[in-house]
Amino acid sequence: MASPGAEPSIFSRIAAREIPATIVAETDHIIAFNDIAPQAPVHVVVTTKTEQYQNVGQLAAADPALLAELVAVAERVALEHCDGEYRLIFNTGASAGQTVFHVHAHVLGGVLEEGTLAAH
Ligand code: 5GP
Repeated sequence: MASPGAEPSIFSRIAAREIPATIVAETDHIIAFNDIAPQAPVHVVVTTKTEQYQNVGQLAAADPALLAELVAVAERVALEHCDGEYRLIFNTGASAGQTVFHVHAHVLGGVLEEGTLAAH
């Protein structure tokens, strides 16, 4: 959870339209936008509007319905942008590549290499 008085996360600032992004889907609780540094032909970040949870484990434990809504938005984005075929990645922790500590999934689609977890 963000500490009181902490700056809003970069994703909260995107949701508040303070930082521009190409928003591809939105619900009352979830927002999805194109990643600024795409690692696949389709690379969309799907995140909660609340920054209360740092990672998917925390979100699943505290609010499984919100996690299900996030996954449903990811599925809808993938249906619209890559025929419903996609990789869904939640990085957890710096050593796993997490740089923004506000829970989010990466939807990766297009032509991905088989036999690897990385997009390229
Ligand atoms: P993480 O590394 O935490 O799993 O994922 C964070 C993602 O957010 C990265 O893929 C990074 O490119 C993306 N990102 C960071 N800052 C911005 C930004 O200002 N705008 C957008 N659209 N994506 C961002």
